[in-house]
Amino acid sequence: MSTDLWPTRPVRPGDPARPTVRGSGSLLVDNIGELVTNASGDGTGGPLGIHRDAALLVEDGQVAWVGPARGAPAADRRIDAGGAAVIPGFVDSHAHLVFAGDRAAEFAARMAGQPYTGGGIRTTVGATRAAPDSELRATVRRLRDEALRQGTTTIEIKSGYGLTVADEARSLRIAAEFSEDTTFLGAHVVPAEYADRPDDYVGMVCGPMLAAAAPYARWIDVFCERGAFDVDHARAILACGQAAGLGVRVHANQLGPGPGVQLGVELGAASVDHCTHLSDADVDALAATGTGDGAASTVATLLPGAEFSTRSPYPDARRLLDAGVTVALATDCNPGSSYTSSMPFCIALAVREMRMTPAEAVWAATAGGARALRRDDVGVLRPGARADLIVLDAPTHLHLAYRPGVPLIRQVLHNGVPQ
Ligand SMILES: [Zn+2]
Repeated sequence: MSTDLWPTRPVRPGDPARPTVRGSGSLLVDNIGELVTNASGDGTGGPLGIHRDAALLVEDGQVAWVGPARGAPAADRRIDAGGAAVIPGFVDSHAHLVFAGDRAAEFAARMAGQPYTGGGIRTTVGATRAAPDSELRATVRRLRDEALRQGTTTIEIKSGYGLTVADEARSLRIAAEFSEDTTFLGAHVVPAEYADRPDDYVGMVCGPMLAAAAPYARWIDVFCERGAFDVDHARAILACGQAAGLGVRVHANQLGPGPGVQLGVELGAASVDHCTHLSDADVDALAATGTGDGAASTVATLLPGAEFSTRSPYPDARRLLDAGVTVALATDCNPGSSYTSSMPFCIALAVREMRMTPAEAVWAATAGGARALRRDDVGVLRPGARADLIVLDAPTHLHLAYRPGVPLIRQVLHNGVPQ
């Protein structure tokens, strides 16, 4: 995907998280056979806002114009899509990239029949605490670049493998070098040294750990699950985060039924993530938050890589969609339960295993992820949006599910810059 159109360099510590290219002139992506915009209300192409035989103009890192190829304005530079499909860059709204170590042996044991309990998180905590900043930073960069090559132009990054004041703060400080959407997950599990006094750990999370983490975080998250944090602890932690100005997200209802989804709705969470085991009341509560652009809606973020990697039953996306719930897809990239950074893989799983249509899955992996992060500048290709897009090696978005495992990402533009 290299190009000599514009020089690019990797993001370095201290760089602004959202670099834009100014004064580099305009760039026309031309000869697009199928352009997925996700821009609704324009009367074309259904929820994906599809334009045929289209072109798209980029200026100053943003989309400046979208329309028919034959009416395209002049530009300083041009990319010929050759009749291929162009879609918004993927928005991966759930990833755990700040860690050290590898749990391939645990995966192999699980595939040989051992159940997944979430307890392996503590293995990664030990490795992460022992790693120098440089190692953690190199891992985040490697995975961020890996995701970018697969079309992910926005990626949320959580802490949660440090679980001390200093290690959570440094995890988020490093994450913030790579993403605007950083999430404080000090309440991932209760670390071993607090195993017999979880109240004390919750007190620390709400006190000095939050104070140290908040300057580097946009969001707070809790793993609300049996074996992690119960609903009272989860509510207390999320409320402290809200009081510190952080937005709320929740790991909920992954391993079994539970109160996490309803807690998220109660607190106005932007997203409740996993949603594998839902009651009718959970689905109704999510649906009641609405599906529009309204800031109050709570998105159900589904993470099929976790079910794949733990050989577990998949969440029922069809049930959520039919009830009117907004659904996002994300990777849950982490070393234990879903070590994939591939949004196309998640789209293929969602279509094959979760009864989503290809169009619904592509929307969920782009616009849905943006909703889950309460952003309107990504996941959509309309004038004023960030020029984050993918030229597919395919004539239509349908191929993302139709041709699973095939490298269909021909070129990625991030902030208008070819990668
Ligand atoms: Zn997760």
